[in-house]
Amino acid sequence: MQFNRIEEFIRKNNIKLEDCQYHTLRSLENGGKIRILLLKGEENAKCEYICPKCGNYEYVEVRWRRPFSVRCSRCGFNIKVPRLYRR
Ligand SMILES: [Zn+2]
Repeated sequence: MQFNRIEEFIRKNNIKLEDCQYHTLRSLENGGKIRILLLKGEENAKCEYICPKCGNYEYVEVRWRRPFSVRCSRCGFNIKVPRLYRR
């Protein structure tokens, strides 16, 4: 399954760690995935996901908020970013 939209964006635009306010790639249950990139100074996050419920792949740009979630455009499942337990 294609899951390279954000990867390509980073490569083509030579995005560095210091350009990012938030960047994560998480595995979800059932082979789902979510990747989020928020560049410094931008209100919208780039988000691509594979829905853990229906397997739909999509790339969207959505207003950044925390905790972040995005609704699958096919099945309506609310995809959340699992918390990182890190101190
Ligand atoms: Zn879905």
